[in-house]
Amino acid sequence: ERVGFAVIGLGRIALEEVLPAFAQCKTARPVALVSGSPEKARLVAAQYGIRPEAVHGYAEMERLRDDPAVQAVYIALPNGMHREYTERAAAIGKHVLCEKPMATSAEDARAMVAACAKAQRWLMIAYRSQYEPTNRAVIALVRSGELGKLRFIEATNTQANGPGPQWRYSRQLAGGGALPDIGLYCLNAARYVTGEEPVELTATTLSPEGDERYREVEESVAFQLRFPSGVLARCLSSYGAYQDRMLRLQFERGAVTMPHAFDYQGQRLVVQRRVGDVPGEEERIIRPRNQFAQEIDHFAGCVRENRRPHTPGEEGLQDQVLMEAIYRAAAEQRPQHLRPPAEATRGP
Ligand code: NAD
Repeated sequence: ERVGFAVIGLGRIALEEVLPAFAQCKTARPVALVSGSPEKARLVAAQYGIRPEAVHGYAEMERLRDDPAVQAVYIALPNGMHREYTERAAAIGKHVLCEKPMATSAEDARAMVAACAKAQRWLMIAYRSQYEPTNRAVIALVRSGELGKLRFIEATNTQANGPGPQWRYSRQLAGGGALPDIGLYCLNAARYVTGEEPVELTATTLSPEGDERYREVEESVAFQLRFPSGVLARCLSSYGAYQDRMLRLQFERGAVTMPHAFDYQGQRLVVQRRVGDVPGEEERIIRPRNQFAQEIDHFAGCVRENRRPHTPGEEGLQDQVLMEAIYRAAAEQRPQHLRPPAEATRGP
């Protein structure tokens, strides 16, 4: 029997990626919807074979409590709503898979971890890249030592955003601009690639003057992280430049480039190294998989087998702590020194 999910929020990510991905899942299926648009929700339910009585409005979400088919929720709402819906889902006994960024503050993230712990429900943050095969291959390559010690990381996540208004430009609903939305991929990648937590960071934020969209949130952010092993990561994220989702690693004896590291698909892995006496370049072919399906199946497995997710609430919380430090570094224009979290943020 597959683990039943209620999808909460029927926006772009839910309709275009999450719901279609269930078709490729082996252990999960969508069985309920929570939406503010009954009309749309009814159509979507019919399309996915979801019972009409399993479609609810936001105010009636607690009705999921009495639906034994629903074991978990997938929260696909604006960032500023993640805490409320996580707490409400945990309170009615459902496991929570929550979209990134986890929340709009470290305080909210802590409350979400506490709420799920209290309810004894699993909480996972949807860090899809950590379930994507090429990113996983890069992690394995770093750990193998094949190219020597990792020295430097360069991570970019930029896109040219259209006009507002939408919730992404609201501090209250988004928590910030490019940083929590797309810069988060660079931050999280620097952490999962090294397997370490940064001890020092510097940052600069930037917004074009007179652009209404960036009155509350930043358009661009550049930040640098120093890790205990000495690895330096340079990260850049912006809503104002042509799309680039690149991850590059420089080792003692080679380099790895992933030109589409954070894309939904189309990942590539190029390795540069000396072959004999000459510098060479090769592309490694990794079997592609739908990373949303991988992520959902992982969580369904955790629910079934009662084990801690690979990217639990603590993983999201650590990024929230670091993003607050990045904003502090930018505001004060000086480096921030960080204490590592007490416990490992990642599960098996
Ligand atoms: P969206 O704007 O397309 O969808 C948001 C949904 O929330 C809509 O259905 C909207 O009606 C609903 N909603 C309810 N209350 C709202 C309110 N007060 N204001 C605005 N909308 C409200 O957004 P999206 O791109 O689907 O993003 C949803 C979440 O998914 C965000 O947390 C985002 O960061 C995350 N996301 C993740 C990825 C990924 O690759 N994992 C990609 C895009 C978005």
